[in-house]
Amino acid sequence: MSISMKDKTYVIMGVANKRSIAWGIARALDEAGANLIFTYAGERFEKSVRDLVATLEGNHEQILPCDVTSDEDVEKCFNNIKESVGKIDGLAHCIAFAKTEELSGDFSDTSRDGFLLAHNISSYSLTIVAKHAKPLMAEGGSIVALTYIGGERVMPNYNVMGVAKASLEMSVRYLAADLGKHGIRVNAISSGPIRTLSSKGVSDFNSILREIEEKAPLRRNTTPEEVGDTAVFLFSNMSRGITGEVLHVDSGYHVL
Ligand code: NAD
Repeated sequence: MSISMKDKTYVIMGVANKRSIAWGIARALDEAGANLIFTYAGERFEKSVRDLVATLEGNHEQILPCDVTSDEDVEKCFNNIKESVGKIDGLAHCIAFAKTEELSGDFSDTSRDGFLLAHNISSYSLTIVAKHAKPLMAEGGSIVALTYIGGERVMPNYNVMGVAKASLEMSVRYLAADLGKHGIRVNAISSGPIRTLSSKGVSDFNSILREIEEKAPLRRNTTPEEVGDTAVFLFSNMSRGITGEVLHVDSGYHVL
């Protein structure tokens, strides 16, 4: 890693375990010398996040609860961050959820509840997080969200999550247009499929991984390290001219 992120502070939202893409991003930023603040969804994840963070090179002490379905939680979390560090340079939004039963079968069977839940956690959360992070980025900053090609075209079983990702990607563009005047850039990384807690919920995920190995231009699957390095680029000054972009890190699968 050649980019130095020393003296920069980033909020990492969405580490659940060592397979999380957020953890790939955290490791890459840690290696680049950044200060990190972690948020986790609820008590269930606290210990595993604390244990993981203890293995990093840097001393990242702030590990805060933040359930993005709660306006209060998000506000409290960013108030805490403001009180402790004053300013941040960016944040990684690596959060999504859909009920397992919505990630197989016919899209037309999607329930109203399932639709709203997936959109609430996986898409709207970016907007409320950006709203509360904005005052902490008075000197500018960079927000990076994670998306998937199922938000651009129909992928088997991705169903309601694909619709939520389309909404997330459009939110990236509207937020970029809105926050650009404050020097805040907003981009998304469209990652190839990676085996994680979330992706386990997508029915027949193994055949999706196989398809990439067989057909993607690079003939291999994406790694969390590749996504992590791209996130460091999007956080760094090297990408200062880029906002409102969805950058594919997917072994080139999207060109097919
Ligand atoms: P993951 O399960 O490790 O991460 C998802 C995170 O979302 C978890 O940490 C979970 O706690 C968090 N979350 C769920 N509900 C929440 C809530 N109410 N409040 C706060 N946090 C909540 O899985 P992942 O695959 O690393 O997912 C990270 C991001 O990457 C997601 O946006 C996902 O859609 C995206 N993505 C994943 C893949 C893949 O194949 N794994 C591909 C492209 C994009």
